[in-house]
Amino acid sequence: MILDIVTYPAPSLAEKCAPVTEMTEEIRQLAADMTETMYDAPGVGIAAPQVGRNIRLIVVDPYWSKETPRNPRVLVNPVLTLLGEQVTSEQEGCLSVPLNFRADVKRAERVRLQATDLDGNVIDEELEGFPAFCLQHECDHLDGVLFIDRIGRLRRVMYDSKVKKWQKRRNAG
Ligand code: ZN
Repeated sequence: MILDIVTYPAPSLAEKCAPVTEMTEEIRQLAADMTETMYDAPGVGIAAPQVGRNIRLIVVDPYWSKETPRNPRVLVNPVLTLLGEQVTSEQEGCLSVPLNFRADVKRAERVRLQATDLDGNVIDEELEGFPAFCLQHECDHLDGVLFIDRIGRLRRVMYDSKVKKWQKRRNAG
């Protein structure tokens, strides 16, 4: 089932998410629905708070494009250790950030990912480049952080004023 995506400035996107404590059937269904919602959007990553569930669950498929096969990874309670230099992640966007706003963000070039899958199998690996950026972006969601919280203050102020105008127009219409 395709789920509604929660968009900024919804306060729930700024909350810290709770750990997943049990792999219930409901969690499996949520992961399946998040995966479907991500591809439909379309996007290469989605975090549970983006569909209104504030728990530590993400789905990523960093190399997916419409011409390539799907390879979704469901990650439960992911923990990242940031490694390497700070580099520029170019033109990030987010399904929860309206108006298709994009901006460069400073990210760690590599990460160590520790998580489990839906069957409780332990994942412990290092990633670099775009998959590492994608994971940092999605794990930020679990701590209530959006990529627009990581851009310069001036760009943020300008973006916020655009969003306010857009909301006014939307509410008026
Ligand atoms: Zn996002």
